[in-house]
Amino acid sequence: SHLPQDIVDKVQNHPCYSEEAHHYFARMHVAVAPACNIQCHYCNRKYDCSNESRPGVVSELLTPEQAVMKVRAVAANIPQMTVLGIAGPGDPLANPERTFSTFRMLSEQTPDIKLCVSTNGLALPESVEELAKHNIDHVTITINTVDPEIGAKIYPWIYWNNRRIRGVKGAKILIEQQQKGLEMLTERGILVKVNSVMIPGVNDDHLKEVSRIVKQKGAFLHNVMPLIAEAEHGTFYGVMGQRSPEPEELQNLQDACSGDMNMMRHCRQCRADAVGLLGEDRGEEFTMDKIEEME
Ligand code: SF4
Ligand code: SF4
Repeated sequence: SHLPQDIVDKVQNHPCYSEEAHHYFARMHVAVAPACNIQCHYCNRKYDCSNESRPGVVSELLTPEQAVMKVRAVAANIPQMTVLGIAGPGDPLANPERTFSTFRMLSEQTPDIKLCVSTNGLALPESVEELAKHNIDHVTITINTVDPEIGAKIYPWIYWNNRRIRGVKGAKILIEQQQKGLEMLTERGILVKVNSVMIPGVNDDHLKEVSRIVKQKGAFLHNVMPLIAEAEHGTFYGVMGQRSPEPEELQNLQDACSGDMNMMRHCRQCRADAVGLLGEDRGEEFTMDKIEEME
């Protein structure tokens, strides 16, 4: 690994950030954030945010109070649980009240659990202060492009200052906000991982450039994930026949990026309510009705 020691210390018991840790430490996500402020062509709002998660599974939406109850129940039953993330089902920072009241309660009640959040980045610059306040030391930004022309093919619109902004103009604002948010976070010493969805024919070649730029701006890990284009829900909205990358194409791109960037290769594209070690999902054991019974 080419990571500096202070970062290694921070990430060593985080299952997503350390290849070794993911065998021993567990994470959970709580689905408290239903709304989103952009539209990705690969998203189907009926399911979890495809920022990280596989399309096709609907999470049980929780109130912040229910989320805290759930975290406490899981922490009591899974001692390896070190990390709590908010990843959806929409964009956590487009639901600031729900997201931040969850973080506020958790930082008081379960101070040993590390908190992290993933976002499309549109509302990131205005959220950095608040994120720092709640001691969030890891943020994941999904950055699929740094070029507004490519962006317009991925994002049909964004919702910005109470208006819907379409096409290249919207994509340009999103890209600027993502880059600004990334810089603000790394300046404050908050770790940033960048997720990118590899979309063949749209941004595949371009992701090497993205990797180079985000590394330069201080992101510590790049996670290139395959577009999951499934017949019923994963089709690239409006673009029939958009395919997913072949495993070999994904690996070649990850190899090409890895020359100057640490690449994450064990991401499991977990659901917005995943519980347990990566690769195992114990979410079914901790549904709200079961947690209420445990109380
Ligand atoms: Fe969907 Fe996530 Fe994109 Fe929002 S950011 S449109 S929830 S994939
Ligand atoms: Fe970690 Fe990837 Fe799962 Fe997020 S989706 S919790 S980064 S393995």
